Amino acid sequence: MFLMEMIERLGFFLLLMMVVVATPALAQSDEGFAWPEGAQVAISLSYDDALHSQLDHAIPALDEHAFKGSFYLTLSAEAIRTRMEEWRAAAANGHELGNHTIYHPCRASLPNREWVIPEHDLDQFSVLHMQEEVVTANTFLHALDGETERTFTVPCGDMLAGGENYVVTVESLFVALKGQEVASGFASLWAPADVSDGAALINYVEEQAQSKKLINLLFHGVGGDYLSVSDDAHRMLLQYLADNRDRYWVDSYINIMKHVAAQRATTH
Ligand SMILES: [Zn+2]
Repeated sequence: MFLMEMIERLGFFLLLMMVVVATPALAQSDEGFAWPEGAQVAISLSYDDALHSQLDHAIPALDEHAFKGSFYLTLSAEAIRTRMEEWRAAAANGHELGNHTIYHPCRASLPNREWVIPEHDLDQFSVLHMQEEVVTANTFLHALDGETERTFTVPCGDMLAGGENYVVTVESLFVALKGQEVASGFASLWAPADVSDGAALINYVEEQAQSKKLINLLFHGVGGDYLSVSDDAHRMLLQYLADNRDRYWVDSYINIMKHVAAQRATTH
């Protein structure tokens, strides 16, 4: 699993470097821009890959504070097949179910990608193949939660299917793509891994809040699975955010990005 963790982490940096800003720039100086109820910074708590530990630890902790998270589901995951009703219940309770494809295809040709099996090698996919997978994932998610609006997190941050950019061909299906707003300088994104110290998570938020309007924290395992933060560290972060609700607006990524779109429509 360690290898997969490294790859996922590398993927995020690649995503940050490669993402083309297709949305209008979200400048720090956006005049008149405001988050709800005077909050200074919006916080998106998101969780990738549909892992058991997210159902076991992350969702109960979020629910204790009535925070809404975003869960980017890999629909072929075991925790979907065996625990579908729990995801459905989470969605009914206001958590976002986001698209993270069906099989999580990534490019096997990149370094340290030995874990990518040939059947899921994005280098061997066509753009059409990947489009179909993304569209079908949206259909599956609609069957789970009844929603028609969605956001997307690109698996491994890999944008090329068979050498061609597939992401540009599916972005119109989504309210937002995780990471796009980072490239515009509006937001920060961190995928914490191997963190058992809640203070480290809080320090990151404190530091980024000095200059960013949106902080994306992108988790995988919480108190289990891989790329994990400990349950205690995650809970400590949530307690901190709950204690500072006047400063931080915590909501699902889709709600945050819908607010951004609405604000931009009224201030321009
Ligand atoms: Zn992933």
